[in-house]
Amino acid sequence: MVSDTTQHGPTPNGHAEITTRVQIIDEDKKFNADLSKWIDKWGLHNAGFDYDVVAVFGSQSTGKSTLLNKLFGTTFDVMDETQRRQTTKGIWMCRAEDLPVLVMDVEGTDGRERGEDQDFERKSALFSLASSQILLVNLWEHQIGLYQGANMALLKTVIEVNLSLFGKTDQRTLLLFVIRDHVGSTPLANLSTTLTADIERIWASVSKPDGLESRLLTDYFDLSFVGLAHKVLMPDKFEADVKALRAKFTFGPNGLFSDKYRRRIPADGVGVYMESIWEQVSSNKDLDLPTQQELLAQFRCDEISKAAFEAFSSRAKDGRRIVEGGKVVPNLGGMMRDWKTEALRQFDAEASRYLAAVYNSKREDLIGSIHAYLQPLFLAQLKNLHKSALALFKIRLDEGLKKDGYDFASVVGDARAKAETAFKDGAAEASIQDADWDYDIEFGQLDEELTSLAALSKSDEMKKMVNNIERMFKRDIGEKVDLELGRPGPKMWDAVLTTYSDALKKAEQSYLRKAKSFNSTNDEDDQALLTLRRRAWRALKVKIDEHTADSLLLSKLRASFEEKFRYDENGVPRVWGRNDDIDGLFRKARDETVDLVSVYSSIKPSEPSLLPSLPSQEEATGLDGSDEPFDFEDSLHILSESKQVDITSKFRREADAYFVEAKRSIVSSVAQ
Ligand code: GDP
Ligand code: MG
Repeated sequence: MVSDTTQHGPTPNGHAEITTRVQIIDEDKKFNADLSKWIDKWGLHNAGFDYDVVAVFGSQSTGKSTLLNKLFGTTFDVMDETQRRQTTKGIWMCRAEDLPVLVMDVEGTDGRERGEDQDFERKSALFSLASSQILLVNLWEHQIGLYQGANMALLKTVIEVNLSLFGKTDQRTLLLFVIRDHVGSTPLANLSTTLTADIERIWASVSKPDGLESRLLTDYFDLSFVGLAHKVLMPDKFEADVKALRAKFTFGPNGLFSDKYRRRIPADGVGVYMESIWEQVSSNKDLDLPTQQELLAQFRCDEISKAAFEAFSSRAKDGRRIVEGGKVVPNLGGMMRDWKTEALRQFDAEASRYLAAVYNSKREDLIGSIHAYLQPLFLAQLKNLHKSALALFKIRLDEGLKKDGYDFASVVGDARAKAETAFKDGAAEASIQDADWDYDIEFGQLDEELTSLAALSKSDEMKKMVNNIERMFKRDIGEKVDLELGRPGPKMWDAVLTTYSDALKKAEQSYLRKAKSFNSTNDEDDQALLTLRRRAWRALKVKIDEHTADSLLLSKLRASFEEKFRYDENGVPRVWGRNDDIDGLFRKARDETVDLVSVYSSIKPSEPSLLPSLPSQEEATGLDGSDEPFDFEDSLHILSESKQVDITSKFRREADAYFVEAKRSIVSSVAQ
């Protein structure tokens, strides 16, 4: 049952409107397009199936409106006693004061007299039966038994119309005969018997559609009878009778209202339903209720869906703005699922009362629209997740590479796992279960980018590593090679090259040890080692070039010459005497020193195998693409011919000076 608030509570427009009467079909047979609004104002919009509809039929001025107002607290027009004119024609509706009941006052006619009215009577009967579960048939006691009376024509119409509407269904209707001005001399039971016999006679006379020939009146109608005392002559009894009748209008086993009479039209659709029924009826079209119900279901489900979607999209709009701002929205999936759940809850609350097939398909449509609206949010979130996963990867990588003795492969593996997990978790959170979205492609793209970032970082780190090893190599050879290059002689290059190859071996081992953490390929190792060898060679060459620069080489020659000429074999400075063979010693020391120029002029060990084998630039490029052109053979030459001549002549001049100085020292010692 409907809660008290929907039954009796004040509407937004105030309690007064609860019992405002509305002309739903006017004198011109036009339907009032505002009926749906009135259902709402009467507080019945949310009543679902928990409401009832009552209509009254009967001749003019038989006290119908008076009765309805007394029974239900309605506000229908009552004929003014003094003027005796007929009230407005048409069909009026009003909500019962204390019950979720719609009451229809069908303006009475005397069908016998005017053909046009007969037509209206048939149409109003069709209309009323299509929506009302209880039909009050109002008649004077003294009319009973007059089989030819207007009431009989009306009843015939009702029975025919009911057959056309519900012939093939098990829809039942309660016919409640209200006998007015019941004097009491004829008991109600007798009057009921007479009326029942009359109706059965009408039933027998009505032609039944094919297949329904054997159906009984009682298959479709329940009959009920009530007598009311004369309103003017017995006012107290009249009031008591009305009060007793009013008490019967309750829902349930002891009341007149029952599920079996209900037409299964949700209250929020009753306005639309009645309008389309009236449109069919008034334009003399066949009234097919199942079709009407389907149309109603479609119309209402669309309306309900539209309202649900509008509420949904206004809720989702904020989320859309945030996610399009480029930041990952935490709990976006949860929010989207909530919006969807709320929209479906709103839809289901009203639409589930309509035909299941229509409801289900409109629900699917709504879900489709919701998913279509949300998908861009999902995609934007994926984009944001992609960005943040890359950022996370970089942070983790940087952190890992800052630690001493890091293992590159595991640092990358860890950073990658963190980034992928963050993406996948976020994407899964943002997914809606039955939305059929996936993020395989997006994940693949992220994966690719991570791969290329990892490769970039690997080559950077390997370059750094090679640079470090190069520095270590330079440190290793530094002093030793300085020393060795300062000791020219036939074994000088052997010593230098041995120092070089020992240091290189150490560097290579260091590389191979560290390369393990990079999971480097053989190819990468080959490239790196080649680069290392070249750089090592170049570093050695730089040292050699320093040592063989003009001034340094000249001072080396000078030192060597001095050692031979100015010192004796015991390293004691010579003091030249008259008998010393200055000329001979000079020539020897000078010639031996000049020979050193050719020792320094190119790298040539006593054993060619002491030379490293280094491919030239054309044969392979090193790890470091910026390597200058490299030609090993070329690098073995240190001093050009002209350089040798130049340095030799410079040296000779200096040696000559020493010779002259030696000679002079003798002259001066003799002179003393
Ligand atoms: P309607 O045309 O059937 O809706 O009849 P109304 O309710 O407008 O009443 C028509 C007239 O009948 C009014 O003057 C009422 O006062 C009077 N009337 C109402 N109820 C009764 C009744 O029970 N008995 C008699 N005799 N008159 C009634
Ligand atoms: Mg009336």
